[in-house]
Amino acid sequence: MSYVPTIDEASCIGQGDCMDLVPGVFQVDECARVVGTGPDDLILAAARECPVEAIRIVDSETGEQVYP
Ligand code: SF4
Repeated sequence: MSYVPTIDEASCIGQGDCMDLVPGVFQVDECARVVGTGPDDLILAAARECPVEAIRIVDSETGEQVYP
């Protein structure tokens, strides 16, 4: 659980795919926001599902950007 997602609010279109996939990490009103932590593989899957690449992931252990 070292992946830390952030949302590009200017890009997010708020349709909720990330919340559907990982509701413990993403909540969506008009825009997605990060509300918790979760398994790295599910966070990465949510980022890949996002139709506008609004989810950025950094590995908190290495500091490296994992996605996109
Ligand atoms: S999947 Fe992407 S566009 Fe959709 S709510 Fe989540 S961050 Fe926003």
